[in-house]
Amino acid sequence: MKLSVIGTGYLGAVHAVCMAHLGHEVVAYDTDASKIAMLSAGSSPFYEPGFDELLGAVLATGRLRFTQSADEAVSGASVHFVCVGTPQMAGSDAADVRYVDSAFKAVVASADCDGLIVGKSTVPVGTAQRLAAELAEASSPHALEIAWNPEFLREGKAIEDTLRPDRLVFGVTSEHAEKTLRQVYGSLIDAGTPHLTSDLATSELVKVAANAFLATKISFINAMAEVCDVVDADVVLLSRALGYDDRIGSRFLNAGLGFGGGCLPKDIRAFSARAGELGASDALRFLHEVDKINVRQREKAVAAARSIVGGDFLGKSIAVLGAAFKPNSDDVRDSPALNVAAAMHLMGADVRVHDPKAIANARKRFPTLSYFDTAEDACRNADLTVLATEWDEYRSIEPASFRSVVRVPRLLDTRNVLDRQYWSDAGWQLYGLGRGGPTA
Ligand code: NAD
Repeated sequence: MKLSVIGTGYLGAVHAVCMAHLGHEVVAYDTDASKIAMLSAGSSPFYEPGFDELLGAVLATGRLRFTQSADEAVSGASVHFVCVGTPQMAGSDAADVRYVDSAFKAVVASADCDGLIVGKSTVPVGTAQRLAAELAEASSPHALEIAWNPEFLREGKAIEDTLRPDRLVFGVTSEHAEKTLRQVYGSLIDAGTPHLTSDLATSELVKVAANAFLATKISFINAMAEVCDVVDADVVLLSRALGYDDRIGSRFLNAGLGFGGGCLPKDIRAFSARAGELGASDALRFLHEVDKINVRQREKAVAAARSIVGGDFLGKSIAVLGAAFKPNSDDVRDSPALNVAAAMHLMGADVRVHDPKAIANARKRFPTLSYFDTAEDACRNADLTVLATEWDEYRSIEPASFRSVVRVPRLLDTRNVLDRQYWSDAGWQLYGLGRGGPTA
């Protein structure tokens, strides 16, 4: 099938590459000229494991092109995937849907045949219905229809998640739209991927409800961490014991620095804001608490670091391991790690940051922090090392030899992933969040 993809960020570029890999002819469009130039040349504007290799392979087949012309992407295609950003609106908790609106308008203006416009961006419930109404008003000479197909990929596992999704959701208003989406994803459906068809509003809600649930689970265990600190209990053991209960499950139940990134924080805020607009704010009031618990984890990490170095950051050298919002990504949007680094810097610490992939993005956001190419350089003569993003590289540090790098062998493991005994045996003082002791 001939597909267009509008927006080639973390979601759109991966979607375009994966759809071409599945055999479709894809032309992807973005307003950002530098992204299009890089992608056309076979290099990725972001770090995503496996992406560069797959991009090179599908470009070589001739089934994928990138363009800065909406016309070139849209003309001749029968399905258009809208993958543009929906960031938090300045001065409000609501989502800014203007990029979706302009992408939608560009498709309608450029369409030269009948087609299905498929939203993949995460949007406030009701957006698809509104666009469907606008489409009816637009009186295009071609039969265009709206569908919503929310995306559940995780950065760091985006290729795997797109080629082997745990489910596909098709929000449609006609049999034709459902049939078209079944055709697009035919090989995934044949491989047994569960797929559900719903109305437009339900499909929009699936995505934000999933993110609200995950955020709540993380904040739940972080709330337990706060209680553990009060009574000198250990949230890591608590979490492990809870996780064995298969009604609860162990995933997303690691207490620590909390969630960040370009999705969860803005999505729960936008969901609450939308509920308010719909007169249902009571239903989602708890998400405000979920958000507050999450933000508090960052404050607690900073307070813990300050207390470990004696109550004052002035004159202290703090190494921060990790800048990305999570491992295997270079995304620093609303990154807890960078927030903590920046807060300690503002309080007078000499903050030295390392990340295996996210330094360039981090430097753009916080240019006044010091960045280093190796963990060892960042940690040289540190009074405290803060593990802020749980990259494998940090998990595999050998504490006995690393001890000679730092000035004082003490480490705040804000992700609670290091083996305490192993590090203590190597002469380190190891601190966590929610594990009692001096950081409580
Ligand atoms: P992003 O900021 O990385 O990419 C958005 C892209 O859209 C940018 O390259 C931008 O230049 C482009 N764009 C903006 N307006 C445009 C227009 N009118 N025409 C063409 N291109 C335009 O964002 P992202 O992380 O890819 O997220 C996109 C959407 O997908 C958001 O709604 C997000 O919530 C959702 N989502 C993201 C992920 C993820 O892991 N990143 C997962 C699931 C859903």
